[in-house]
Amino acid sequence: MKKTDELYSGKAKTIYHTEDPNLLIMDFRDSLTAFDGEKKSEVPKKGYYNAQISKKLFELLEEKGIKTHYREMVAGNEMLVDTVSIILVEVIVRNIATGSMTRKYPFEEGTVLDEPVIVMDYKDDSRHDPMLNEDIAIALGLATREELAGIRQTALKINEILKAYLDERGLLLPDFKLEFGRRGTEVVLGDEISCDTCRLWDKETGDSLDKDVFRFDKGDLAAAYREVARRIVPEIFD
Ligand code: UDP
Repeated sequence: MKKTDELYSGKAKTIYHTEDPNLLIMDFRDSLTAFDGEKKSEVPKKGYYNAQISKKLFELLEEKGIKTHYREMVAGNEMLVDTVSIILVEVIVRNIATGSMTRKYPFEEGTVLDEPVIVMDYKDDSRHDPMLNEDIAIALGLATREELAGIRQTALKINEILKAYLDERGLLLPDFKLEFGRRGTEVVLGDEISCDTCRLWDKETGDSLDKDVFRFDKGDLAAAYREVARRIVPEIFD
């Protein structure tokens, strides 16, 4: 399957049409941004590592019965996906308090939450992704009450699968962001699951191996992403 014209270029990925209207190609670029696009950079191989990590995690989720938009890789940093209409809700799952959770609320940094916390934000950078509640999401016409309940359940299931998988690879999963989309009448997981969208901490050292390295100038981002790739997709280093 070949790329045709560009559909959309975001902060870290460019989406292309293909000859089949039901399929798109996501190109994971080396660019990255933080703080609503205020901080920008380019990191060699970042796109490749994120694409490969996402591929592996989508395959894992599909094996466990989660429906995703993932089809196959068409190049090292290009993923063939089903065309979905993205629901403008960022679904954030939290296991450990950090980031905005400790900035906004009186949680101590690093507190392990008794139960996962799910937060839904309105995906709109110009409004700084304000937090939604169910009624606002429904009033805005973003999703139905039934869809939101399904998304919540699926997000919790994904969390359990990812937490266990990453734990075996020496990684903690403090929080991560998911996006869902409609494929016909069903809601499926879309977007990516990578070092850009998850917080990943080394279980032994507590070091960040994710975009926080870039956000807070914590060191070598390429080395951090490579380390995560080494643990999740060792086969790409053979
Ligand atoms: N996240 C993301 N995109 C966003 C907002 C958050 O991928 O637009 C991810 C982020 O990488 C982290 C989690 O969601 O893993 C929770 O982020 P938080 O709300 O703590 O935001 P931050 O601390 O970055 O302001």
